[in-house]
Amino acid sequence: MVKRYLLTGGTIYRHAWDEHPAEAMLIADGRVAWLGAVQDAPASDRVVDIEGSTVLPGLTDAHVHLLAVGQARKQISAARPDSQSLGAYLQRLQEVHESLPADEWLFGGDVNEQLWPEKRMPDRAAIDAVVPDRPVLLRRFCGHVAMMNSHALEALGLRPETADPSGGQFDRRNGALTGIARERAAEFVFRAAPRPADGEIAKSTRQVMDDLSRAGVTAAVDAAVGFTFGFEPEWAIWQLLRQQGDLPLRLGFMAQIDPGTAEELSLEPGRDPWWQWRTLKIFVDGIIGARTAALHGRYHDVVGSGHLMHDLADIQDFVHEAHRRGWQVAAHAIGDRAIDVIIGAIASAQAACQREETRHRVEHFGFPDPSAFQRAAELGVIIVTQPSFIPRMADAWPIALGDQHHRCFPARSLIDAGLCVAGSSDSPTGALSPWEGIQAFVTRRTASGKQMAAQETLSVRQALDAYTNGGALAMQHNGWRGTLITGMAADFAVLDKDPFSCSSEELGRITSRLTVVGGRTAHDPEGIW
Ligand SMILES: [Zn+2]
Repeated sequence: MVKRYLLTGGTIYRHAWDEHPAEAMLIADGRVAWLGAVQDAPASDRVVDIEGSTVLPGLTDAHVHLLAVGQARKQISAARPDSQSLGAYLQRLQEVHESLPADEWLFGGDVNEQLWPEKRMPDRAAIDAVVPDRPVLLRRFCGHVAMMNSHALEALGLRPETADPSGGQFDRRNGALTGIARERAAEFVFRAAPRPADGEIAKSTRQVMDDLSRAGVTAAVDAAVGFTFGFEPEWAIWQLLRQQGDLPLRLGFMAQIDPGTAEELSLEPGRDPWWQWRTLKIFVDGIIGARTAALHGRYHDVVGSGHLMHDLADIQDFVHEAHRRGWQVAAHAIGDRAIDVIIGAIASAQAACQREETRHRVEHFGFPDPSAFQRAAELGVIIVTQPSFIPRMADAWPIALGDQHHRCFPARSLIDAGLCVAGSSDSPTGALSPWEGIQAFVTRRTASGKQMAAQETLSVRQALDAYTNGGALAMQHNGWRGTLITGMAADFAVLDKDPFSCSSEELGRITSRLTVVGGRTAHDPEGIW
């Protein structure tokens, strides 16, 4: 017998644009069965009073590294108040080192040298000075740079004569390794270092999902299965989580493998409402922070224009093959050159092979040429952006890009160009809470309080739309999830504040009192349901 729950006593927004929110919502069989005024409510088995709260469709985090966030939490974080300089962070590494059993590796994370007065990353010599006799591996907050001491270089077999992998670099000074590895060299390092047991990784990943649920998120896409430990080990951990069951989120996955490897592993695009497996991830370029994002022009502060992660022909092949075999492409592209390369590749793949549902994704769209908006819109491309990069990084963009920095991470001009925009955290690089992203969409305030490109601010409705409807579209869940109209999945959040009337400071701190996915509670600390 299906139970009918009547949610009442609050304000229920069917979607971000709802001008006449409902007073009551009936939920039956995991779906929205009815909405309207309290006095018209149909019969129900149970009335759930939400005591004046605001209800929104469940949010989607369209790009988050769930597994990596769980791992980053175990590392010695450089983002703590007691690590506000390189010197202070090195001192903490030394203290932790003295308390650790011998032979254990020391792992650090969240390194962002731009926030330190020294403005430089710890290299081999700096780490050796505080931890000479155990391997130390540090991760830049972006995940694209690794820092090691001599012991770690030795343990991983890295020597001055070690060749750079294509798309990556081991930094050198006078022929010696500095201990800093970038892009695919960093990827090699993270995969080769020892890792915790699968069960432990699964447990910390599950905690991250619960934290998203606490913020009102009901669906998330892991943005690169394979980014931290390699594809096969990570996919095994996800299978373990699936077997454990009772997941608080609908999940989507981007596999960081090429279409040929997917075929060798007998993987084909597939989906069910809880588990979506239809997206292949390619890194077209790097990031602004490491000066590896591929630009048409030059960086402002260093010689160079960044670089593509693969040969141009390989990028085109990847997109053509993935498209032809029915995959959704999710392409990391930040520099204007990388963005033009991926738009060109998608255009030629779509011209060569007509397909239903050809909404490919461009992740970040960080520093686009203004001409890219229209071209991307014509292709139906979804832009998955990370507004919380503004408070975390934007103060450093003028250093890298000079007076062109105002072009970084646009939002309103994407919408004006008719593009579909999905909001996301890219945590651990960005803030995990979608509300910090929504706040940044609206304010565009940097850490130092400056407003970055005021003309790109969004209204609260536009920002919420990107995290509800936009996120559902990115996962191609539109049509059954992302709004609360009759017949849609009962995925919603009962919020502790009203985002339409609270201050912008409060907006960034909103949490969910009750999160329901498919009519089932995922987060209900007060026992409301
Ligand atoms: Zn990412």
